[in-house]
Amino acid sequence: MAARVLDGKAIADQIQSELAEEMASFIQDSGFVPCLAAVLVGEDAASQVYVRNKQRACQRVGIDSKLHQLPDDTSEQELLELIARLNKDHTIHGILVQLPLPDGISTVRVLDAVHPLKDVDAFHPENVGRISQGRPRFLPCTPHGIQQLLSRSDIPVAGKHAVVVGRSDIVGKPLVMLLAQRDSTRGPEAANATVTICHSRTAELPTVTRSADILVAAIGRAGFITAEMVKPGAVVIDVGINRSEEGLVGDVDFAAVSEVAGAITPVPGGVGPLTVTMLMYNTLEAARLSI
Ligand code: NAP
Repeated sequence: MAARVLDGKAIADQIQSELAEEMASFIQDSGFVPCLAAVLVGEDAASQVYVRNKQRACQRVGIDSKLHQLPDDTSEQELLELIARLNKDHTIHGILVQLPLPDGISTVRVLDAVHPLKDVDAFHPENVGRISQGRPRFLPCTPHGIQQLLSRSDIPVAGKHAVVVGRSDIVGKPLVMLLAQRDSTRGPEAANATVTICHSRTAELPTVTRSADILVAAIGRAGFITAEMVKPGAVVIDVGINRSEEGLVGDVDFAAVSEVAGAITPVPGGVGPLTVTMLMYNTLEAARLSI
């Protein structure tokens, strides 16, 4: 039987309209409009699309956005100086540095320079530490989006075995932390999983993935998760975005896996729209923290 397809776009739209309402009352009460500064260095085509999508989402929910577009040959020092100015600017509430940065610029040094109270991507070590201790300030956008997607699709996480393939600082590791916490922004049913994290050195990967009630693929390899790697009835969340001749495809072999899984996210239209939406959520949070 074909799996239920989880419509990330519809859920993102629902959250964005909730946020638009919250934003309107925030603006009325505070007297100012939250503002997100987006920093884009270089000409990477995909990054330009991502930043444009984020700016459009800002418009939809009522956030101001300012784009700082810098040339490819920008030095690390120039970028750090821009971040220092944005940190001090009281009209800016969130700072987003679009990754990847050009070669020669240290991503760690740049992300560490963003003020923790404006760190709407939740990459700063102070914010990551707070997440791991279960007292988050900002939640990382893609993992929080996945949690929202599961919860709003009425898929409980508590007590389930979640297997996350990929251990990046952006997706895999923070997702493990969110799913394993005692509570979440959607209550304890959206957390409290038993979590296994996998990577390129995991032995017997298909055996591990087949034990998952909830399988998350954040690998960056088109069609890597095949039907044989999935337990019948499992929920499969595909984070991957890979460019192929057929356009954007995920890390999951969608056609074959949807014959085995109970529920599955498509690419595009699955996790992606939620990532952008949770950035809006964090920008409102940053504006609240600025008062
Ligand atoms: P990343 O930093 O490239 O990490 C990839 C992870 O996959 C690594 O932990 C790597 O293991 C693991 N891996 C690679 N080959 C493997 C294999 N053969 N078996 C098991 N694990 C393997 O990736 P990322 O930044 O998390 O991104 C992953 C994908 O998600 C990309 O396609 C990216 O474009 C996409 N993405 C989508 C969104 C969204 O909103 N939808 C957001 C962020 C990222 P090692 O650590 O051992 O190398």
